Amino acid sequence: MKIKKIAIVGAGTAGWLAANHLGSELQHEDIQITVIESDKVPTIGVGEGTVPYIMKGLERFGISEAELLISCDATFKQGIKFVNWMKPEQEKEHFYYHPFDSPYPAGFDISRHMSNLETSRPFDDVGIQARICELGLAPKRKSSAEYQGDLAYAYHFDAAKFAKLLANNAIKKFNVNHVIATILGAKKDSAGNITHLLTDEDSELAFDFYIDCSGFSSVLIEKELSVPFVKKDKELLTDTVLVQQVPISESEALNPYTTATAHKAGWVWDIPLTTRRGTGFVYSSQHMSETEAKACYAKYLGVNEKDFSPRKIPMDIGYRESFWQKNCVALGLAQGFLEPLEATSILLSDFSAEMLAKNFPRTFSDIDCSYQYYNKVVTYAWERTVDFIKLHYCLSDRDDSEFWQQNSDKDALSAELKQRLNKFKLRPPLQSDFFSRFDLFNEKNFLYVLYGMNFNTQKAITSEKEQRHSEQLLEQNDQLVKQAANILLNHKEWLMALKAAMSE
Ligand SMILES: Cc1cc2nc3c(=O)[nH]c(=O)nc-3n(C[C@H](O)[C@H](O)[C@H](O)COP(=O)(O)OP(=O)(O)OC[C@H]3O[C@@H](n4cnc5c(N)ncnc54)[C@H](O)[C@@H]3O)c2cc1C
Repeated sequence: MKIKKIAIVGAGTAGWLAANHLGSELQHEDIQITVIESDKVPTIGVGEGTVPYIMKGLERFGISEAELLISCDATFKQGIKFVNWMKPEQEKEHFYYHPFDSPYPAGFDISRHMSNLETSRPFDDVGIQARICELGLAPKRKSSAEYQGDLAYAYHFDAAKFAKLLANNAIKKFNVNHVIATILGAKKDSAGNITHLLTDEDSELAFDFYIDCSGFSSVLIEKELSVPFVKKDKELLTDTVLVQQVPISESEALNPYTTATAHKAGWVWDIPLTTRRGTGFVYSSQHMSETEAKACYAKYLGVNEKDFSPRKIPMDIGYRESFWQKNCVALGLAQGFLEPLEATSILLSDFSAEMLAKNFPRTFSDIDCSYQYYNKVVTYAWERTVDFIKLHYCLSDRDDSEFWQQNSDKDALSAELKQRLNKFKLRPPLQSDFFSRFDLFNEKNFLYVLYGMNFNTQKAITSEKEQRHSEQLLEQNDQLVKQAANILLNHKEWLMALKAAMSE
């Protein structure tokens, strides 16, 4: 039997990303895609930080970068500045960057030699992007082509406006239907495949293939197909977030990065948009009460605790045992959620939606060929993402609370992460350690986090020539920073210039 009608239940970022991926892949075939949105269940309304992976899809969908920047109040994100994830050094707050640019921009990996050099430089001096961030510069010039920069970048954006942009694109370019209905359940055939969706208006909607993008409601994958949830709360301890949008003044600078500031039971994100700041206080409710969390958050924002009522969002940490079950695939928050550190959620939705589009079954019998492979790949991507997030917590030398002490427990690491860390004690990570294309975070990301957090790797025996070359590259980077400061505009000026040009 042919698959001709696809239902996407849910119209948040995941639902519309899926509609664009499937729409662009299947646009020349006789397949109709319908996005179903409930007018009774709102979208989660957070999810403002991204990673460069997102650009590939946006370009393929035919979305103009200028339109994205203007319509979603977007700013550039060149990485994350991690503050206080280690003990303060000589009373000074500790910070390091995980920028998006390669840690070996000149092609030669200095990391092996860093420990031998007579230098007190931070590790992120292996490139220039951390310093470009500190200078508040844009990653591209005014004349740069769309989606191209002098430095790697992604975006911060208003999540609701981003979903709207994706929706307009999918409807106009890929002829996607948009239906308002609240799904209460589904009918299944004797093999367990979904045949109909049941709405709150007593109607039945029939499709051939179903994509559950219903967010934390998980109306199909959990409630109808009963796919178990694999909890990861032993590895990742944070389980609650308080969120608050903060107004900005005209004169305020816009950081071209996300700031992630650790506190005694989690961390705070701070994301600049052109119209406001998006902030969130992530914490472990096992280690901090809501009252204390609110007080710490108010202190961070510099507001009066008494008039402060941030929105509370509980998080279930983990993912589905299988993402593709029968004729249904779960994406986005219905697929799972870890926590917001390193902005992995939209990345995993985007990656999974693209995988689904590339492996989309044209007939029911094709499902058998694809689903196991898909589940294997996507499970691998989730498992390694858990490891990457955990890395930030387990490397910390903070011991000022039970939260940080518990995070240093090596027994809570996966076998793979333990093995990798043991290897990286002997030598820095190499590309060949990350042999799967489905390691969404690889040696480049690990290098920044490991050495940003003072990970101790055995000193390498290196030649004088290699050391001289490393020193020269570090000096060359200093020159490149100076040159970039002359070429690149201030981040905010760049965005304001775009706004002015677009309104002409
Ligand atoms: C605190 C927090 C911070 C986050 N920060 C980041 C970040 O910085 N970066 C990042 O990549 N990700 C982040 N995320 C994750 C990000 O928000 C999600 O990946 C993204 O928004 C996708 O959500 P979604 O589309 O799956 O769900 P939602 O946005 O919740 O959309 C669910 C949709 O399903 C519909 N729906 C629900 N029930 C029904 C029903 N019964 N019938 C019909 N429709 C229904 C709703 O109407 C809605 O349209 C964060 C998440 C949280 C909780």
